[in-house]
Amino acid sequence: MLETKELQNKISQLVAYAKDKLELRNEDEYFVLNSLLDLFGLQAAVEMVTTYGDFQTEIVDPLVQHAVDTKMVDEASRIAFETRMLGLVTPMPSAVVDKFHAIADKDGIDKATTWLYELGIANDYIRMPDIKKNIKWEHDGKLGRIDITINLSKPEKDPKQIALAKLQPKSGYPACMLCPTNVGYAGNLNHPARQTLRVVPISLTNEPWNIQFSPYQYYFQHIIAFSEEHRPMKVSNEAFARLMDFVTAFPHYFIGSNAALPIVGGSILTHDHYQGGAKVLPMFKVGSRKSYKSAEFDSVDISIVDWYNSVVRIEGKNREQVYKMACKVLSTWENWTDESVDVIAHTTEPHNAITPISRLENGKYTFDLILRNNRTDDEHPFGIFHPEVALHNIKKEGIGIIEVMGLFILPGRLKNELEMVKEYLMEKSIGAELEDSENPLFKHANMIKELVEKNGNHNSKAQADKIVTDYINIACERILECTGVFKNNEQGQTAFDKFMTQGLGLIQK
Ligand SMILES: [Zn+2]
Repeated sequence: MLETKELQNKISQLVAYAKDKLELRNEDEYFVLNSLLDLFGLQAAVEMVTTYGDFQTEIVDPLVQHAVDTKMVDEASRIAFETRMLGLVTPMPSAVVDKFHAIADKDGIDKATTWLYELGIANDYIRMPDIKKNIKWEHDGKLGRIDITINLSKPEKDPKQIALAKLQPKSGYPACMLCPTNVGYAGNLNHPARQTLRVVPISLTNEPWNIQFSPYQYYFQHIIAFSEEHRPMKVSNEAFARLMDFVTAFPHYFIGSNAALPIVGGSILTHDHYQGGAKVLPMFKVGSRKSYKSAEFDSVDISIVDWYNSVVRIEGKNREQVYKMACKVLSTWENWTDESVDVIAHTTEPHNAITPISRLENGKYTFDLILRNNRTDDEHPFGIFHPEVALHNIKKEGIGIIEVMGLFILPGRLKNELEMVKEYLMEKSIGAELEDSENPLFKHANMIKELVEKNGNHNSKAQADKIVTDYINIACERILECTGVFKNNEQGQTAFDKFMTQGLGLIQK
């Protein structure tokens, strides 16, 4: 608990920080100061300061700790309280929008998005101290780099919190995590606090949309575009036109959409949205395997990307032709059946879908269209083109847009589990404990047996680290290959060529 004087001083430091980093104007200074005093139940301030200590460790953390110590909030609501407090020192949404446009007009759109991004870091909306906890490495795979992240930035909820969250009545407001009504929302046990969220309205195909940065930042300047209206995801010709509008307005970013079907789509299918950001994802670096021409759209280059899964790339300076070619791939793929490779477009429901990604560079539009299929059968209850069961200990969830481009986000539980796996490679012998389904290593039993059989159990710590990392690297390559509808073998590539030539009417170059 802080002494009153110390508490007042920390509040003054927060105001000084906001003047320096969060656009707090002199005219708003007392208003914000008094709001903070009110939040902490104080009647008066001490003298204002002009210098301040480290934002997180010397201002935010002690203030939040004080709130917990004095029972203003409970332990489970730390982040919610922090967000409420920092929302008070963040400019109003309208001021953010005005400043964004002023920067865009004066210095260019890339400077404006960088400003919005840095504002999100400065007010802890993007929680960098947590994001830095992630374990990251690169794997130089056989068809190009794969980036791997063990995600430790999302705090695991304890069972007590989960139980409390279940008791929380569901209000249905905001309708989802992406609705514009999230701006300023206080949150509850089931919904994150969003007082620090700021969005900027944009227009795509003359429709109202918005941009915001992802609070989780899976890659640099991870941005989200979302429709003003709460409506389901849809990958359609209109979506392609919107993606092209986006890269025309924000040429320094890529933008893409998850496929709109379960299993192959993302985690939020209920609100139409796209994900974009800096062009740092591994797939962008990869060239073509086979090139084609279209008689109909003769200015456009079409190719199969030399990647782990099945990607059609369309490039050209003529926007209209690139767009029309992309629409043709979508309508053709949605009805394409080739039983020789288990691709069936429709059963009682549609199964073929596309994960589209758009870029604009040097006046040239690019679409990478990743062909997906979500059909299941008795042998593959999780999906025929889903990671095989033997890989579920690494990743069981759907493989969405970020992963298909070669950036893996693996669950945080793996950090501790992999350390326990390594013990079997160093000295521990395999016993009946691996047959116990309550044991967190139960799901890794086959991996442990395979690795010990191959490498023995007398490895050094460094060797064990390498053995396990190599295993994860190869598993990620295999997961990507599992999602490919046309496998990277002769039969698969013959079927891919058939789709390109007979399906799309293209001529091989
Ligand atoms: Zn929504």
